Amino acid sequence: MINDEIVDMDKVHPALLDRGLYFGDGVYEVLRSYNGKIFALDEHLKRFLNSLAGIEINGIDISRVRQNVLMAFDSAKIKNAKIYFHITRGSGPRDHIGKDLKPNFFLTISEIGDYSKSKTDGVAVSTYPDLRWKKCWIKSLNLLPNVLAKMDAAKKGCDESILVDESGLITEGSSSAFFAIIDRAIHTAPTTANILSSITRKFTVIAAQNLGIRIVEKSLTANQAAGADELFLGVTTKDIIPVVKFDGQTISNSKPGQITKKLIAEFSKFTG
Ligand code: PLP
Repeated sequence: MINDEIVDMDKVHPALLDRGLYFGDGVYEVLRSYNGKIFALDEHLKRFLNSLAGIEINGIDISRVRQNVLMAFDSAKIKNAKIYFHITRGSGPRDHIGKDLKPNFFLTISEIGDYSKSKTDGVAVSTYPDLRWKKCWIKSLNLLPNVLAKMDAAKKGCDESILVDESGLITEGSSSAFFAIIDRAIHTAPTTANILSSITRKFTVIAAQNLGIRIVEKSLTANQAAGADELFLGVTTKDIIPVVKFDGQTISNSKPGQITKKLIAEFSKFTG
């Protein structure tokens, strides 16, 4: 039955029998273009291969994935595009193991949203328990904890939810990397702290090194973050976004901080 309609099993579209739907059994990537040029394609493909290996989807020809991305981007004719794609283990009857599965590839391209106001005004964030599994380095389709966290933030009038693990330490945002500036040094969780290996984080570290800003890979508590001099988020679709409110507490006088602004400018040299 599909919604209220009874359908012969052989008429059901294979997309509805996708293991991504039943089990979240797949991995994805999000990348973007700036003014007609795809940014950090190699980095995203490398992470995608790691994610595929992490859930034992084997035999994917990554050069074919690259070709598909380039072909779709070319035909979409969108200069500032958000490129989403995923591979699932395949379609079939609902069975945890499954037989004769052939991976499915799915990709969408859309116009990137206008986030310029977030950059100039900064955003508010709120904390939420990190309810995710122990392999967050895999960009898995299982995003229910992230969705619940983001819904909680939206209810509180915030743009992002900052996840706090069982030991009281911040891991990352529900869909972003998280950074604090304390005593002129950038603090961010180490990649060993059950976080995604963010591509924006990687380029932020390079930008910081170019500017001679020290990086401290150390997880912070929510209290430490609330008392930071500056806070910001990092995510592919928006690069660096200043945070001006953390759990209701004002950060850097409600204005994007000076070091954050310098990092935004340095980051834009990679993407311009
Ligand atoms: N952390 C999580 C949980 C994410 O979902 C994302 C992006 O969606 C990020 C961090 C940022 O990763 P990237 O910079 O590669 O977009």
